[in-house]
Amino acid sequence: MSYKINQLLPYLGEEEKINLNKAIDDKWITEGPFAAEFISLLKKQTNSKHALLANNGTLALYLSLLAIDIKNGDEVIVPDFSFIASASSIVFAGGTPVFVDVDKENFNIDINKIEAAITKKTKAIMPVHIYGQSADLDPIKVLAEKYNLKIIEDAAQGFGVYYKNKHTGTIGDIGIISFFADKTITTGEGAVILTNNDKIFEKLQYLRNQGRKNSGTFTHAFLGMNFRMTDLQCAVGVAQIKKFPKIEQIKKEHYKQYKDELKDIAQIQFVKEETYSNLVPFRANIIVEKQEELIQHLENNQIQTRGFFYPLHKQPCFEYLNTKNEEIANTEFLSQNGISLPVFVDLTTKQISYVCNTIKEFYHV
Ligand SMILES: *Cc1c(COP(=O)(O)O)cnc(C)c1O
Repeated sequence: MSYKINQLLPYLGEEEKINLNKAIDDKWITEGPFAAEFISLLKKQTNSKHALLANNGTLALYLSLLAIDIKNGDEVIVPDFSFIASASSIVFAGGTPVFVDVDKENFNIDINKIEAAITKKTKAIMPVHIYGQSADLDPIKVLAEKYNLKIIEDAAQGFGVYYKNKHTGTIGDIGIISFFADKTITTGEGAVILTNNDKIFEKLQYLRNQGRKNSGTFTHAFLGMNFRMTDLQCAVGVAQIKKFPKIEQIKKEHYKQYKDELKDIAQIQFVKEETYSNLVPFRANIIVEKQEELIQHLENNQIQTRGFFYPLHKQPCFEYLNTKNEEIANTEFLSQNGISLPVFVDLTTKQISYVCNTIKEFYHV
């Protein structure tokens, strides 16, 4: 089906093409000058002491879990409301995901339900900063200290998102940001791993580059793999990160237009905006009545619409964990009542009004 309005289009243009041409002319297409520049711009944006690139957010999470020594049998606490990679990466590292419910209003991990999930096997907590808003990290840090746990932040959707003026992904022991095509800035595929810890950084250097610190040597102190990005991707990344202030501003304007135009509809609720975080809208995410019918109505009007995540504890692939369902109610609610509206940069105010009017028509308001 072709849509009048897509769910998402990445914001790409001349700046990316100029950099790509340069990367090709330079004939350095694995990590090279653009990778170095991208890393330095990422450090500047996040104020992270260290930053390393990875092929994508999923593998960045996997690598990060290895770097903080997650091993067979270790439990890692993760919100039940996230993309599958938050949990699958734990399994691939040898650990066991333990799902915790989220807050019904801000969609992030419910900090009041974490402590009950901690056992003798718990080694880490993975807060996910969902839909461009930070989880509440201070109470998580208190628990991590009390029980001697590591914090690994899934800030895949958190580029430009700050918790009390610190960039998400830099507050725990380690964190990742994804540059997948639908993320706030994109390189098609790609990710960055952030840490302020020198030991973790050193371990990551070995793990991501065949067990050596620098390419070009053929003695390998440890076993590692290849988690490099290409300079072509980093060329795009450099252009993207320079455009981020504009991306943020326009997405916020779009989001505000949705809030203004839909504010009188009682059947619609926007995510609660917490004071400890800014919001870089990932989508215009709303809780609605009659979700399925509304999605159908929007699709009938050629507006591409997405539901929310499906509860992780109910995923067929996690059936073996036997998570008790009654303890996790809010992810269930969100998946049954949430929808994501497009908020990408190239949308016009006219298109957003069209989406809003289509919704108003559905509710007869
Ligand atoms: C996108 C995403 C990932 C995975 O990142 P990829 O780069 O697509 O592998 C992990 N966690 C969350 C919350 C995401 O949104």
